[in-house]
Amino acid sequence: MHPPSLLCALSLIGAIAAQAPQLTPEVLGRPTVGCVAAVGSSSQARLFGGQAWVGGVVPFTLHPTVSPAMAVSLQSAMLEITTRTRVRFVLRTTEPDYVLVRDATINSSPIGRQGGLQVLYLANWNATFEVVHALMHVLGFWHEHQRPDRDTFVQIQAANVDPARAVEFAVVPLGSTYNLPYDFGSVMHFGATEASSNGSPTMIVLPPNQSQQASIGQRLQLSPGDVEVLRRTYGSLVPPLIVSATPSSVTSYRASAITLTGERFDEASRVLFRGAAASYQVLSPTQLRVTLPLLPAIGPAPISVESGAGLSQPVVVQVTGLDPPQLEGPPVLNSQFSIPFRVYSSNGRQILLLAAFNNSPSIASGIVSLGIGNNFSAYGEVATGIADASGQWLTNLTGPSGLPSGTSIWLQAVSFDLANFTLPLAVTNVLPVRAF
Ligand SMILES: [Zn+2]
Repeated sequence: MHPPSLLCALSLIGAIAAQAPQLTPEVLGRPTVGCVAAVGSSSQARLFGGQAWVGGVVPFTLHPTVSPAMAVSLQSAMLEITTRTRVRFVLRTTEPDYVLVRDATINSSPIGRQGGLQVLYLANWNATFEVVHALMHVLGFWHEHQRPDRDTFVQIQAANVDPARAVEFAVVPLGSTYNLPYDFGSVMHFGATEASSNGSPTMIVLPPNQSQQASIGQRLQLSPGDVEVLRRTYGSLVPPLIVSATPSSVTSYRASAITLTGERFDEASRVLFRGAAASYQVLSPTQLRVTLPLLPAIGPAPISVESGAGLSQPVVVQVTGLDPPQLEGPPVLNSQFSIPFRVYSSNGRQILLLAAFNNSPSIASGIVSLGIGNNFSAYGEVATGIADASGQWLTNLTGPSGLPSGTSIWLQAVSFDLANFTLPLAVTNVLPVRAF
């Protein structure tokens, strides 16, 4: 909890300005607007109205009032953040936007990057998580109890609030919840009697969470929720994690999508399918949909998700061929120009394309008489080929000349194992076409 004299509020900036006449009025003018907001790249951030720190890099410099021991304390607090997210605090060289850290009698900071010089005032240097709390303001985060939905969770006891600090209890209307649960354990939550003018509670936790009343306002650690909002704003130190892929097997035959379940997908910058970039859609931090290329090669296919923190371990999905194979083509066969027909099979299969006519026996009688199909007794072979790596075989057919227009033709393909070229493995559908 903040000791009463240690305010992180911005309402006192005017007083600070009076104490720090060496700072230019325009610098101090900004925070008097309130916790002037910042907005991250994501509009759903708990930062808004201003800017996040670009790339998570926060340049800072130490005012001469900061002793070496204070600097060590500051560094400890910074490490609590930088060991969990991609935020980096760096000593300023020439960066135009930076934080001047100085010793003060209160803790105070504007919210997020202001542009140009901004000042972080620190008083209780040795309370690491009070400093962390102040650094969270620097990074763009408001108090947890200022969330727009806070009235569902806590009831402010306005009569007990020190009027000078009332602003610290105001709901921030544009504040986002990141769709995360209200976090009673946040390092950004006030304690029950924080900013009290009379020692009575300034905040009552509402049912059914009354058991949190004694624990709000902790300053011992970043809560998991604190770490999550930091991660969503500035990124994680570790790559995304893929837990599962659904489905785990797809056919090469049709365009398909695979939904990955895991963590940190909202940080995805690229998805790799067999090492090549694939199109994808982030559904949520825990779900991502990958659209597979049409006709991928048959076989195992690793999928990885990349973020600024690196590449995830892959999940391996299987791309299979079609068994039985599928014959596709247009409904006509022209005697003037060739028309494409395709068989989707397993890769490496020998494919025979057969035809029969409604007004004649097989044109290659005796070659194949397998009892396949159901309208005719024999087929003639019209083309052969081998399915490629994706299991596709493409052939262009021209209808026999002189065939009366409208003649019914039945096409069917048979696949064989090249290594054991005796009996057909499977037959396709019968594709009826008409002479054109
Ligand atoms: Zn604060």
